[in-house]
Amino acid sequence: MSLENIRKLNGQISQIRNFVIIAHIDHGKSTLADRMLEITGTISKDKIKPQMLDTMDLERERGITIKLQPVTMNYRDYILNLIDTPGHVDFSYEVSRSLAAVEGAILLVDASKGIQAQTLANLHVAQVHNLVVIPVINKIDLLGAQVVETRKELAELLEIDENQVLTCSAKTGENVENILNAIVERVPAPKGEESNRLKALIFDSVFDDFRGAIAYVRVFAGTLRGADKIQFLATKKIEAASEVGEFKLKYSPKEILKVGEIGYIVTGAKDISEIKVGDTISTDSPETVSPIAGFKIPSPFVYASFYTQGDDPSILRKALEKLSLNDSSLVFAAESSQSFGQGFKCGFLGLLHMEIVKERLEREYNLDLIITQPQVAYKTEVINGHIEYQEPWVNLEIITPNEYLGPVMELAQGRRAIYSDTKYLGDNHGRARPLTPERSDGGRVILEYEAPLAEIIVDFYDKLKSVSSGYASQSYEMIGYRQSDLVKLDAVIAGDLVEEFSRVVPRSRAQVEAKKLALIFKELIPKQLFEVSVQIAVGGPSTSLDKARDKSLGTGKILARENISALRKDVTAKLYGGDVTRKNKLLKKQAAGKKKMKKIGKVDIPDKVFMEILKR
Ligand code: GDP
Ligand code: MG
Repeated sequence: MSLENIRKLNGQISQIRNFVIIAHIDHGKSTLADRMLEITGTISKDKIKPQMLDTMDLERERGITIKLQPVTMNYRDYILNLIDTPGHVDFSYEVSRSLAAVEGAILLVDASKGIQAQTLANLHVAQVHNLVVIPVINKIDLLGAQVVETRKELAELLEIDENQVLTCSAKTGENVENILNAIVERVPAPKGEESNRLKALIFDSVFDDFRGAIAYVRVFAGTLRGADKIQFLATKKIEAASEVGEFKLKYSPKEILKVGEIGYIVTGAKDISEIKVGDTISTDSPETVSPIAGFKIPSPFVYASFYTQGDDPSILRKALEKLSLNDSSLVFAAESSQSFGQGFKCGFLGLLHMEIVKERLEREYNLDLIITQPQVAYKTEVINGHIEYQEPWVNLEIITPNEYLGPVMELAQGRRAIYSDTKYLGDNHGRARPLTPERSDGGRVILEYEAPLAEIIVDFYDKLKSVSSGYASQSYEMIGYRQSDLVKLDAVIAGDLVEEFSRVVPRSRAQVEAKKLALIFKELIPKQLFEVSVQIAVGGPSTSLDKARDKSLGTGKILARENISALRKDVTAKLYGGDVTRKNKLLKKQAAGKKKMKKIGKVDIPDKVFMEILKR
């Protein structure tokens, strides 16, 4: 088609198809996007690098998609706008805004793995947004591909005919054209009136050092020109746009952005915090235009403290400030404790989000970081002199081969999870032909629970994998805060309360956890010149609350106690007389150890041990 024709078509909303690809991690989303870029001639075959739309080094290396990278392709007489979404639950709000920006979704499933927990989680969101879902089985080139079974599972899940399910190999490109054709034929064109006032949904934003904050938008009504004055309906900010355009693997300026289109706006805002995902941009004021529904500000559910090893904390602060320019869900606050020095308490959407931030800080800013054990964000309230806790709960969905059902359920029940339902995937029960372990003889089961987030953020996933020989998958989705019977355990070491070591645990496990904590201290805190008592108390004042008010709560009850015996004056005495090297080594080690000590009340604790305790 000639360029001129394409330009003409660009003006017609009926020729636009907006879609996303949703999939469990590693099922081939980015690879499929690569093939589409090739087939549509958006990029020539010799220029393509694997996972083209994953722009960060980190994304390529880890093979995960962190940031959405939209792209506009021309195919037949159509304009296809693809948004590649981050498949992980931590970014579910971003995913939900991306899905709100399109009409269709390709649900991609790896033929050797079948439907996984994240496939389901994504599908739920797509259905909530009334998207047309096109099921596609990927990796049919693999020897272990189970196309027949996967087709059956997908057809049952979506309640459609099996012949609606497409198959492809994103690797070889086989059948990928069929998918493009299905997008054109099955996904409806966007709707909306060009003559109405502008309504553009922000589904992502980036910060550009030269151009400031750039909003990625889907236009739901009206039009926008490059130099228009724009208003953000939720934040009520007003800015002057300086450019609009579309995504051709890079920013490609256009004169006008129209209803139905996906593109970008160079907003003129200096600060990315003005550009909130989910907000609506208009050329009119909030009084005259109603915003697009669904806006919210995602709040962090997981906290952890970051410290640098050796570096100046101000370097870490600068790095966090810079990083948060492009990641509005990252929050942080300086945290200084008398015993622990300067660090930063950071809030994240989830564990993967935390890991990504950590890795980016280490790579892009060359920092050597120590991170404390992540904690969920509790809400507390003092009622009749008692602290009442609320904690975040999630809907937890696990898919497991039937034969691991017992151990998986046992694991979940040990984590305060409340069972809600069991469903079967496919109907391959008692099948004579042995399938791969994922599908094995007994078929696969979907288990549904409600569970406290605190119980699954740390090691649940690893345990789940280990009790299911690696075959179970999980996904969870926040359902909000619930009151729980929790208590705070305080560590009192040599008579001093060490706030950093406090932790919140279920009351039913307080005794066991207190004992465990006391033993950790006993094991890790080095002997001092005097005997050190370790006490774990429950029900003491909460450090997060107003101290004066807390006095009424009284001191805690001691649940566990250990003693660390005093150091023998001559530590080398017990060594065999002749071994001078060993003796020297030990003395040297002691001298070095003195340098990096935290003074906690009367007790010296090496930095390393301090961190070790916080990580347990
Ligand atoms: P994503 O996490 O869903 O974006 O998955 P990727 O596109 O990064 O793919 C994950 C892995 O599967 C990569 O190693 C790909 O090369 C591989 N892969 C993707 N599609 C196919 C396919 O059709 N066949 C085969 N054999 N491998 C594939
Ligand atoms: Mg990817």
